[in-house]
Amino acid sequence: MARRKKVYEGHVKTLFEGPEPGTLVQYFKDDATAFNNTKHGIITGKGVLNNRISEHIMSRLNDIGVPTHFVRRLNMREQLIKAVEIIPIEIVVRNVAAGSISTRLGIAEGTPLPRSILEYRYKSDELGNPMVSEEHITAFGWACTHDLDDMMSLALRVNDFLCGLFFGIGIRLVDFKLQFGRLYTADDEMQIVIADEISPDNCRLWDMTTGERMDKDRFRRDMGKVEEAYQEVARRFGILPESGRPSDYKGPRVMQ
Ligand code: 5GP
Repeated sequence: MARRKKVYEGHVKTLFEGPEPGTLVQYFKDDATAFNNTKHGIITGKGVLNNRISEHIMSRLNDIGVPTHFVRRLNMREQLIKAVEIIPIEIVVRNVAAGSISTRLGIAEGTPLPRSILEYRYKSDELGNPMVSEEHITAFGWACTHDLDDMMSLALRVNDFLCGLFFGIGIRLVDFKLQFGRLYTADDEMQIVIADEISPDNCRLWDMTTGERMDKDRFRRDMGKVEEAYQEVARRFGILPESGRPSDYKGPRVMQ
C-alpha cells in the first residue's frame, strides 16, 4: 500500500498530502495537551469524536456561507480539507469570563461579559501563544489590517451562529479559539477562511442547566469523564448513536 506523505505533525492532529492538488487530509489523534504542552494525556476516542463534531460545525458554517477549509469527512479519524496558508494569529472569542481572562483580570468564572470580547494570540509554542495587539500584528506583518478586518467579522459571525447552535442543544458557548488561513484561488484571488477544528478541545462548553463542563477543561483541571463529556456533545448534536460510543459503529457504513 502506498504510504502517504506527512506534511505536518501537531500535538493532536497530523496533516497528510491530499488526493487532489490543493487538498490535505487532517487526521485526529487521541492525544490531549494543555498548559503549553507541559501536560499530556490520551483520551480514548477523542479523535473520532472531534472529527465528527468539527465536521458538523464546519459543515453548518459552510451552509450559511462562512468560508472554512473543511471539504468532507473521509472516515472515522480523517477529513479532507483545503490547503491554506495558516495565519500565525489566533482569535479567542469570549462571551462569559473563564480561564485566562478570569485569572488575568480577576473576574469570577461564569460572569457574563458586557459584550463579546475578541483577543488576538500570536501562534508560537515556544512563547506560549502570547496575547498581542493589532499594533503588533500589523507592525510585524503577521497580518494586514484588511486581513484583520475579515478575521474579526468572521469571528463575530461564527460566534453568533455557534451561540445559537449550542443553545439549541442546551449548551452555553463560554469561549472558543479560531484559526484562520489564506486560501488562494486559481485566479490568484485570496480569501480568508476558518481553519483547524472547532470542537470541545478549543471551546468552553457549559451545560445550560447544570453548568457542568463539557470540554477540555475536564482534562486541564483533572475533572475526569473527559470522553463522556465529548460524547455527550456529539450525542446532543445527533451525530452518535444513543450510547454515544463511536465503537458502536460496526463495520463500514454511511454516516450522515
Ligand atoms: P484561555 O485563554 O481562557 O486559556 O482560553 C480561551 C479559549 O480558547 C478556551 O476555549 C480554550 O479552549 C481556547 N484556547 C486558547 N488557546 C488554546 C490552545 O492553545 N489550544 C486549544 N486547544 N485551545 C485553546
